Amino acid sequence: MLNLPDIIIAVDGYSSTGKSSFAKLVAKEFGFVYLDSGALYRAVTLFAQESQLISRMNIINPALEREIQDLPLRFSPDNRTFIGDRCVEKEIRSMEVSSQVSPISALQYVRDFVDRKLHEYGAHGRVVMDGRDIGTTVFPDAEIKVFMTASDEVRAKRRYDELVAKGEFPVFEEVVKNIKERDYIDSHREASPLQRAADAFELDNSNMTISEEVAWLKGLVQGKFNIL
Ligand code: C5P
Repeated sequence: MLNLPDIIIAVDGYSSTGKSSFAKLVAKEFGFVYLDSGALYRAVTLFAQESQLISRMNIINPALEREIQDLPLRFSPDNRTFIGDRCVEKEIRSMEVSSQVSPISALQYVRDFVDRKLHEYGAHGRVVMDGRDIGTTVFPDAEIKVFMTASDEVRAKRRYDELVAKGEFPVFEEVVKNIKERDYIDSHREASPLQRAADAFELDNSNMTISEEVAWLKGLVQGKFNIL
């Protein structure tokens, strides 16, 4: 294992570019903690849906702001997402949550709430965090920033396979539509839009294996910290 200082590695990018698989493996290889910021936005969305604070037409009840303040969101040591004692890992990955997470995460008060949690978890470094605005807003001083991209076809196929593997019955066209809609909202919103940080390294993994991706990052980190 590389002998690294207590750094933060920020991994941002469009939907289904393989950020979480990459970030998880990097965390494992480096002995760091992996943090999935999207899971917290998804859990807030699930909460809003179950509390009927968001309508089918994406009309959000302003009471959501008050209701989330004490929401006991947390990650378990094995990276599962909990609301209090309830593990919501399966529910937050459903198409239903995916279809409403972008309007919810465009709200500044939701972002402030999630950012506070992320700062609690990332305070001491040695984390790999993936999301949309980690290198630009949440941890703008992160020592290593990666911005991931992949072709639309590759991304849609990945997301589709992921849902099938989870036992869902997705319609391919709907998966494509959802990815495009989320990318559009995520990159056009006013609050922390998805954009590449000026000092981020771009990684297009359309034609790369995950081990090649990790080897690429290792090289980059070794170069930056002069580790052989
Ligand atoms: O990463 P994942 O696809 O699970 O994220 C779900 C959604 O959460 C994204 O489409 C985006 O709307 C929101 N998100 C965000 N900022 C982050 C991470 C996720 O707005 N840092």
